[in-house]
Amino acid sequence: MEKWPLGVFAGIDAGLGIPLDVAHELGVPTVHLHAPAKATRTAENAEKFITKLKELGITISAVFGGFEGESYADIPTVRRTIGLVPPESRAERTREMKEIADFSRLLGVDVVALHLGFVPHDRSDPLRAEVVEVTRGICDHCAANGQRLHLETGQETADTLLEFLEDTGRDNLFVNFDPANMILYGCGEPIEALRKVGTFVRSVHCKDATWSDRPGETWGAEVPLGEGDVGFENFLTTLKDIGYDGPLTIEREIPQDPVRQKEEIGRGIRLLRELKAKIL
Ligand code: MG
Repeated sequence: MEKWPLGVFAGIDAGLGIPLDVAHELGVPTVHLHAPAKATRTAENAEKFITKLKELGITISAVFGGFEGESYADIPTVRRTIGLVPPESRAERTREMKEIADFSRLLGVDVVALHLGFVPHDRSDPLRAEVVEVTRGICDHCAANGQRLHLETGQETADTLLEFLEDTGRDNLFVNFDPANMILYGCGEPIEALRKVGTFVRSVHCKDATWSDRPGETWGAEVPLGEGDVGFENFLTTLKDIGYDGPLTIEREIPQDPVRQKEEIGRGIRLLRELKAKIL
């Protein structure tokens, strides 16, 4: 397989991400797909998607779970609403994540991924043990499907993430590294973090951002690829160093402006192609 095939974050009827047809127009061979809405996740629809993807010449390299009631409005809202950390929705979301894994298997996709949410950094916090436990359950469900689970980075430092992976102790648990999230959430310099968690990185988001003046309290700003503080030449060189050869999946979350989104992703694709030619 081609090293570092390009990709985009795409969606069908739920979550963020660009439509599959736009991904096709942009000429990318792979996507990360946001899980379709519950009513859409049927065996019949899986067959239809497989046919459509074949026509478009696109492979899904990972399916990302997302849930009703999640909001990325600001950092305190993320803390309260995202992933499997909030206790009141955890059982239902855990069940749904397993359903998403089963639907992904119907699509022939062997990677499912998600934002776990703000995992408590203190190893003795009982909430943390609860999140470890449900993550193990999802990993085991995925393993039975022949799948891996990738955790999206950003809501914790690299060290906290490594501790979490160790405590969970499942050999199909890996990392989706999003360098912009490290900056947006103020969780550490992304290249240094990438080196730390490198052996676990099995997928990436090529997204860019600038630091907040109060990191960890307020958002940094997401910006077009190449215009932020990640430093993509350095990022790709580091991916090469850690032996990563999977897809480079561009994520640009401005659903309110699809025209600009497509244009900016197009520029991102050109930049990544240039960097690939230089570095690979
Ligand atoms: Mg991401």
